[in-house]
Amino acid sequence: MAVFNLRAYDSHEQVVFCRDVDSGLRAIICIHNTNLGPAVGGCRMWDYNSDEGALIDALRLSRGMTYKNAMAGLKMGGGKSVIIGNSKTMKSEELFRAFGRFVDKLSGKYITAEDVGINPNDMAIVNKETSHVLGLEGKSGDPSPVTAYGVYKGIKAAAKHKLGRDDLDGLKISVQGLGHVGYYLCEHLKKEGAQLIVTDINQDNLDRVVNDFGAKEVGINEIYEQEVDIYAPCALGATVNDNTLKRLNTKIIAGAANNQLAEDRHGDILMQRGILYAPDYVINAGGIINVNFEENYDQAKALEKVDEIYGTLTEVFEASDAEGRPTNVIADEIARRRVSAAKQ
Ligand code: NAD
Repeated sequence: MAVFNLRAYDSHEQVVFCRDVDSGLRAIICIHNTNLGPAVGGCRMWDYNSDEGALIDALRLSRGMTYKNAMAGLKMGGGKSVIIGNSKTMKSEELFRAFGRFVDKLSGKYITAEDVGINPNDMAIVNKETSHVLGLEGKSGDPSPVTAYGVYKGIKAAAKHKLGRDDLDGLKISVQGLGHVGYYLCEHLKKEGAQLIVTDINQDNLDRVVNDFGAKEVGINEIYEQEVDIYAPCALGATVNDNTLKRLNTKIIAGAANNQLAEDRHGDILMQRGILYAPDYVINAGGIINVNFEENYDQAKALEKVDEIYGTLTEVFEASDAEGRPTNVIADEIARRRVSAAKQ
């Protein structure tokens, strides 16, 4: 399989293919960039259709972590790992221990944490083999409430920029995905008097938000057509695509999901249509900021840092207006500048 000429390969510093026959482990660790510090990024367990698919995912996600950490002003580089396999049937103590030994061999150049398919118990096993693990239970804990808080602050920054006000009272906000982040986000929005329109494929999660916050429920495809002030994608990536763009009836897109734009060019279309887009890795950095405060964890300090998301997004929005270029492009450029300045 070619690696260096893949589109997703972006001068990554190191790509490690991990195989442990006894436990069945097949994993890939991608270290994108360590100019700002050790590469930090979660480990995802997913039943990929192909090894190439796993590699591309890890390459893309690790680059995203470099940008996210740089934009959050953290002294951390970007990395990510994937374990290839079904997270419901293939987990074992031996598998996570083997993964931990591979992480340990990198001597702190890569620091792992939870991501999709991985829970705190799995990371506790990894931690038996390596100290290079963050987000452990009993330390900074579940990052989701802090991610939600950061998204809420980011939504306020976007509202201020686009609508001239950062109180959300009476604004119509659609939230897609009411899981760990979406639930807490709805709680913040409701407290400020926003009108919530929500959807989820999981009926229990949906019922909980409808009951707890008086939200209006709509179908999973109807969410795009709602006439709202703000659309907050908090489920999957790539929900802003050629299909949904025609239907979106919002002034702002600001939510927690990673990789919201199916392709970079969708950022251009949003700008042309006058829809303000809060770049995903800037607005959803609350969780990684929280993890960064893991040593002697102090939530107040973590939240103070998360508050900076408001100012960072405002800087991106203003530069976008001044230069007439999309917010996703501006954010990428600021991130890249910070990373190369750290090298010098
Ligand atoms: P989660 O799995 O707890 O919640 C996702 C929710 O989306 C679930 O309730 C699921 O049923 C729902 N969903 C899935 N497909 C859907 C669809 N087609 N339509 C509507 N709902 C759908 O995940 P989470 O931790 O809340 O994360 C949400 C998003 O935010 C993810 O994209 C994640 O990568 C991103 N993110 C999360 C964090 C964090 O701290 N948890 C940090 C940064 C980014």
